[in-house]
Amino acid sequence: MPELTTLSQSSLQDYHDCPRRFELRYLQRLAYPAIETEPALENEKHQQEGEYFHRLVQQHLIGIPTEQIGKLANTDNLQRWWENYTNASDLRGLEDLGGLYPEIALSAPLGKFRLVAKYDLIAVDNNKVTIYDWKTYRKRPKNEWLQIRWQTRVYRALLVQAGAHVNNGKPFKPEQIEMIYWFADFPSEPARFIYKADQYKRDWDALIKLANEIKNASVFPLTDDVSKCNYCPYRSYCNRGIRAGDAADVELESEGEELFDINFEQIGEIAF
Ligand code: SF4
Repeated sequence: MPELTTLSQSSLQDYHDCPRRFELRYLQRLAYPAIETEPALENEKHQQEGEYFHRLVQQHLIGIPTEQIGKLANTDNLQRWWENYTNASDLRGLEDLGGLYPEIALSAPLGKFRLVAKYDLIAVDNNKVTIYDWKTYRKRPKNEWLQIRWQTRVYRALLVQAGAHVNNGKPFKPEQIEMIYWFADFPSEPARFIYKADQYKRDWDALIKLANEIKNASVFPLTDDVSKCNYCPYRSYCNRGIRAGDAADVELESEGEELFDINFEQIGEIAF
């Protein structure tokens, strides 16, 4: 089995939700044996549109004119998301900021691993730095749910640890950082999370503890919370059902959608 050398918000979230899923996905590297949610085709299309939307925004932020990109928003979802993005008062003037880093990856040592994260956008403006994350969820998750996600904790903590090279070599202080989830279908309801020194200490200590626990783990138990299995691609490995959960019926739909990792490398470059 190849040795695991990196941890990310996705792998940590998987370990937190179900150690067995972490083992199957990141240690055994099993391909997905089952479709995660029904109806399969519709969800796959939604996922692909979500990935494409990320690419459109990235192109916009590197200076391609809005009208030119708008022509590529060629499905109902993409058109609506693009319109919401271009009209969003919370995002106005973003492209004019001096320090924009779209789709940037940061990493730092974490115990025996490297912690890695790919950010949709880091925007540095004078004394402040904002992490933006674009979400194309069909439901707006509660802030309480987002607050405790490993993504929210990892992205802010890693920016303190590894953000110096987007800040003229100077590390960011936690108090300079804000993270914003912007929802393409709920453009006036972004979720904002500021950061403080005590939160950073708590997060980084928890990350080190978790990394050590993972390094020393020899068993990876199945979660006791069987609701986590509803969307899980590995149900058939665990006798936790075969048929996928129906995304339209479930309350935690965004959790199901989180299981689809956005993979920018799989999205072809957009030709202009
Ligand atoms: S089906 Fe359930 S127990 Fe099995 S890996 Fe998925 S979440 Fe864990």
